[in-house]
Amino acid sequence: MLRRVGFTLALPLFVIATTTLGAQTSHATPGGHPAWLEAYRDPAARLIGEAVSSTFAWDRLAVLTDTIGNRLSGTPALDRAIQWAVAEMNKDGLENVHTERVMVPKWVRGIESAEIVEPARHAIAMLGLGDSVGTTGDGVQAEVLVVRTFEELDAKAASARGRIVLFNAPFTNYGETVRFRATGPSRAARHGAVAMLVRAVGPAGLRTPHTGALQYASDVRKIPAAAISSEDADRLQRMADRGSTIVVRLKMDAHVDADAESANVVGEIRGRERPDEVVVVSGHLDSWDVGAGATDDGGGCVVTWEALRIMKKLNLRPRRTVRVVLWTNEENGGRGGLAYRDQHRAELARHVLMLESDGGVFRPLGFGFTGTDAARDTVKAIASLLSGLAADQVSPGGGGADIGPSMQEGHVPGMSLEVDGSKYFLIHHTAADTIDKIDPAEMAKCAAAVAVMAYVVADLPQRLGE
Ligand SMILES: [Zn+2]
Repeated sequence: MLRRVGFTLALPLFVIATTTLGAQTSHATPGGHPAWLEAYRDPAARLIGEAVSSTFAWDRLAVLTDTIGNRLSGTPALDRAIQWAVAEMNKDGLENVHTERVMVPKWVRGIESAEIVEPARHAIAMLGLGDSVGTTGDGVQAEVLVVRTFEELDAKAASARGRIVLFNAPFTNYGETVRFRATGPSRAARHGAVAMLVRAVGPAGLRTPHTGALQYASDVRKIPAAAISSEDADRLQRMADRGSTIVVRLKMDAHVDADAESANVVGEIRGRERPDEVVVVSGHLDSWDVGAGATDDGGGCVVTWEALRIMKKLNLRPRRTVRVVLWTNEENGGRGGLAYRDQHRAELARHVLMLESDGGVFRPLGFGFTGTDAARDTVKAIASLLSGLAADQVSPGGGGADIGPSMQEGHVPGMSLEVDGSKYFLIHHTAADTIDKIDPAEMAKCAAAVAVMAYVVADLPQRLGE
């Protein structure tokens, strides 16, 4: 999942911690770049050259997604992926490779279906929402109330009782539309609805419903909730507009089992001078239970891990430690990011930068960054080393769902890999999240961008922002 909304507001203490301009900004070359940057042109070129000269990253992601497949928290598949990552990191020659235990929630989808019963029988392309309760007995069968907005539901509240409510809000952008998936179930339940359907949160696809987590309110009954494809939502809307009585039957075996043991996976290139200072690069290894978890977020795991593999291969050991973390349970709990914050609390002050790649590994554009102005100047200078890849943009608001807790607690600068996002939400949380949507050359460029940024930040004579 991609959750950047709100990250620029997440660090009030950090943002007001003003820093005087560091020495690195005071000795500029005629080209406008700081003098220290020159020393990094050669290693940056080598890192980029190594990354783009092969399809290693894409091939590794293909092994993960073809053989292990999707990786929902609490499943044997996620356990296998964790063990595989540890073995592969050791093969790469990474240091201090280990797992860090995390207890994760275990939501089970079970068998599920939805069909229109009246005015005639038609199957609906659906996916139950993560964390939804199931239906009982033979399922829920009820008349459908179709609304486009929360306001329309409130206006028609009297007709919601005993009905299945469909929120048919066309996709605008994720931040705006996802609220129907997240809070729609409890909104509908408050008016007495017996189940909720939501138009899948994504641009119109090829009858692909999108799953994703819901958030039940604590003071209202939990009702079963599912996403349906945009085509099916449109069909129900047309029927409702014609004044037809629509009856739908929804069956979901979804339930929650006891918490399961899982882990974050960690590997490092230890720093040669200041090994206790750390640059974290990361992606989340868990995924939803449909598709193969390629774009969300196997790709983010592999391209950030690649940064370390390439440094090792080129024998480039920076001053500080570069640490890759493959998070568990981003999608339905965020427990991996919370556990890291708690387990590493004592060293968060020595975290120089945390980066997360969770927006896909399409054509890289650059980075989002949250930190001081001085740190931003340094990051912009480093990003200029990526101008040959056209990946040198630095935009406001860097972060990620998993690094967020540590950023906030430790006032750690945060960064996200920014890519061409035009395809991301088409496949997000769907059965179509498979590796064929990812271009090996674009993915290699993502790895190059992360490798250069992580290496230079870890190697700077002065700590980032000082
Ligand atoms: Zn994700």
